[in-house]
Amino acid sequence: MTTIIKIKCNGPGKCVNEIDLEKTLGDRVSAYKGIKSSQDLSELPPIPGSVVLDCRICAVGKVIITREMAEQAFRGRA
Ligand SMILES: [Zn+2]
Repeated sequence: MTTIIKIKCNGPGKCVNEIDLEKTLGDRVSAYKGIKSSQDLSELPPIPGSVVLDCRICAVGKVIITREMAEQAFRGRA
C-alpha cells in the first residue's frame, strides 16, 4: 500500500506534486505502515522534521514535507 500526499511547491507556479511518502522517506516510516488512528504516534520512531525535495514540474520550486503532513497522512489512512 502506498501513501500519496499532494504538496504544492514554493515556486511561483505552486505546482502540485504527488509525493509517495513511503518511497520518499523509506525505512524512516516503515513502522508507520498499517497504523491505527487511535495509536500513539509518539511511541514510533520519529519521522524526520522535514524533508526538502526539488519540484518535479518547475525548475525553481522546492517541495517541503513536514512531519505534521506525514503524520496526518498516516493517521488519515487508518
Ligand atoms: Zn514547482
